[in-house]
Amino acid sequence: MRPVRYEIDRRICRRCGSCQRVCSRGAVLETADRRLVIDRKLCDGCGACRDACKLRAIVKRKGLFS
Ligand code: SF4
Ligand code: SF4
Repeated sequence: MRPVRYEIDRRICRRCGSCQRVCSRGAVLETADRRLVIDRKLCDGCGACRDACKLRAIVKRKGLFS
């Protein structure tokens, strides 16, 4: 169980790729319809992607997530 998770708000994201470039875990993936999403299994919750997003499209959710 993880205490936080990060999600990309598709309404705000402009697919600039900054979050993808800073993610050392390769957890920011592109879907078939060209959206960027964070793979929860790969993500370690470091938060670097959120810091890198100038549009603040990456949100932190608190709770317990598997
Ligand atoms: S850095 Fe922000 S705007 Fe750029 S691709 Fe990532 S979530 Fe989207
Ligand atoms: S929180 Fe860290 S590991 Fe998770 S997607 Fe963002 S940069 Fe990658």
